Amino acid sequence: MQLKRTTHHRQSYRYLVLALVACIACAAPSSAQSPERIRFRLQTRGVVEGRLKSFSIKNSEREALIRKWFAESGCKEANLSEQALDRKLPPNVICVLPGETQEVIVVGAHTDKVDSFGDGVVDNWTGAVLLPSLLYSLSAQPRRHTVIFVGFSGEEKGLVGSQYYVDHLTHEQRAHIEGVVNFDSLGLGPTEVWASHADKALLDALGRVAYASKLQVTAMNVPEGATADSESFARYQIPRITLHSVTQKTWPILHSPFDKMAAIKLNDYYDSYKLIAEYLAYLDDSLKPAAARAEKAAH
Ligand SMILES: [Zn+2]
Repeated sequence: MQLKRTTHHRQSYRYLVLALVACIACAAPSSAQSPERIRFRLQTRGVVEGRLKSFSIKNSEREALIRKWFAESGCKEANLSEQALDRKLPPNVICVLPGETQEVIVVGAHTDKVDSFGDGVVDNWTGAVLLPSLLYSLSAQPRRHTVIFVGFSGEEKGLVGSQYYVDHLTHEQRAHIEGVVNFDSLGLGPTEVWASHADKALLDALGRVAYASKLQVTAMNVPEGATADSESFARYQIPRITLHSVTQKTWPILHSPFDKMAAIKLNDYYDSYKLIAEYLAYLDDSLKPAAARAEKAAH
């Protein structure tokens, strides 16, 4: 997360739990795509937690670890790349899981930590380290969508990596992105969603999957002045959603000396991984091209 330190402690916070509960209730029984039919596999808890505990506090080493684990998780060499940025920062790291169509789901998390305090385990090693495990989760069977996993660099410097990534896509490439699922600062508790800055279809789908899987998700908006990589895509009207775990009580942990392994609730963290894996598999089945956007880009 990117925070304005001067303001974030005193912000008022709005819970939108009711809105999400309402969407879960209305969507579950009549859904055309039943979340029960989703096929995906789960990385073991030992691997997920082992990677989490192998963090580095150097941003270049963090990026290199994610790249290594992408390869170990089955990302073929031809599909694994780095995107150098204009500024002196580590590159974005990108793994493409080719699908049956040219429609795309982008799965993103920033690899960097803030310069000042803490180990940056919560913000955002928790998110970055899930990318290879989610690749593993989705790659067990052919996918309809091409899924592009991106570890963004320089988020804490002002969404530098995600902005660079989306700015350097062509109009057509942007038009084929049906959704961006970003995660930032997981593991402080059960999964939360930045509902006020989420695409409605993506939010509804999350509600359905949470309902079917009995994995908790509630809506918790990030304070005014804070932001995340999903917003780089929103500038181009690309549907996006950010999942996190931060509540009013735990916000002060971010960018503080308390952002350490000890802050992580491992049961909740693994539940977030399970929910996101199931969610992505469901989106692959259910997301449809946004006709208006595709048409617009073609002209
Ligand atoms: Zn941050």
